Amino acid sequence: MYEIKTQAFFSAAHHLLNYEGECENQHGHNWMVEAFVKGETLDRSNILIDYKVLKRELNNVLELLDHKDINEIPEFKGESPSSEMIASFIYSKLKEKIVQLSKVSVWETQTSCASYYEEEV
Ligand SMILES: [Zn+2]
Repeated sequence: MYEIKTQAFFSAAHHLLNYEGECENQHGHNWMVEAFVKGETLDRSNILIDYKVLKRELNNVLELLDHKDINEIPEFKGESPSSEMIASFIYSKLKEKIVQLSKVSVWETQTSCASYYEEEV
């Protein structure tokens, strides 16, 4: 199998629901997002997918989040917008454009990251 990933960034505010601690108060992050593509076959250029295409589509999705209060985005209404949920949101939007997408990781800090992927059937 081959796997590639690209990284992109966005800044946004959020606060966690049903959580006791600092993160229940509104605060911001500069999130780093990684989008992974996996596959067995390469194209005629011997690439899996053009990084440019993956990055463009990823940035299109991140525009939905950038400089927003994530709690106010309709898809998150009433949900606690954790990094796990943000990873799932990005995965489902990006999967519509990049069918070979295999995983999305969302880094909240330099050392903490949540990922979303679907088990292969
Ligand atoms: Zn946070």
